[in-house]
Amino acid sequence: MKEQKTSKIALVTGASRGIGAAIALDLAENNIFVIGTATSDHGVKKIEESLKVNHQKGIGLILNVNDNLSIENLISNIEENYGDIDILINNAGVTKDNLLMKMKEEDWDKVINTNLKSVFKLSQSLIRKMIKNKYGRIINISSVVGYSGNTGQTNYAASKSGISGFTKSLAQEVGSRGITVNCIAPGFIDTEMTQSLSDEHKNQLLSKIPLGKLGNPEDIANAVTFLVSDKANYITGETIHINGGMLMT
Ligand code: NAP
Repeated sequence: MKEQKTSKIALVTGASRGIGAAIALDLAENNIFVIGTATSDHGVKKIEESLKVNHQKGIGLILNVNDNLSIENLISNIEENYGDIDILINNAGVTKDNLLMKMKEEDWDKVINTNLKSVFKLSQSLIRKMIKNKYGRIINISSVVGYSGNTGQTNYAASKSGISGFTKSLAQEVGSRGITVNCIAPGFIDTEMTQSLSDEHKNQLLSKIPLGKLGNPEDIANAVTFLVSDKANYITGETIHINGGMLMT
């Protein structure tokens, strides 16, 4: 039986580590019931442990954003057992870098599907309920690379630029229904995704960042919490760039 809903419910995809884990924790600390997702049981356990040691409410559930059935099962499970989802954070993402000349079609498809098609699928799955409830917050995690481009990342940059156009279009479709849709575009943040960069590449990057350091996942989480709060009620279709000044638009 469904428990009485006492706080807003947020779904955070890719919450097992990195930026998603920080977002899940920060939302929970701000009195939001968080459902964080991972692709494995191990990841689900990590999400639940992180919430528990910090004395926060929330759960972890399995989701593969490339599997329609996995999306359907997740959403019906949440709606039946916890209530309607008020806040969607589309954070799950991957890289499969290579120069275009060498890029395999499967690596193009994997990045576009995981990073961009997932945003379409999850947003579409939740939008009717948000319209009915006259409330919703959708935050899509894009990237500085979607604005600047980056050698070896045609697939990733295309997926992240796509998120920007998607966000502005959906924001216009649903603005009158009490739903805001925004992007956060992180620069280089210290997570597993960037830990694989060589020291040479990292030093090159640091020389282009006025603040002289990589960002922390919490720098992104703080902005997510602001955008879902009532303080951001009049912000929609926007992108907040958080990159230590490496791209001043
Ligand atoms: P990360 O540490 O590599 O974590 C990626 C997360 O996405 C993990 O929780 C992973 O789950 C999940 N994920 C991957 N494939 C998935 C799938 N098919 N279905 C569902 N979940 C999946 O990455 P991060 O650095 O925190 O990045 C988070 C987001 O920020 C991404 O969208 C990324 O593009 C964006 N971003 C990151 C940076 C950066 O510098 N780190 C910069 C700009 C933008 P599992 O643990 O279960 O695999």
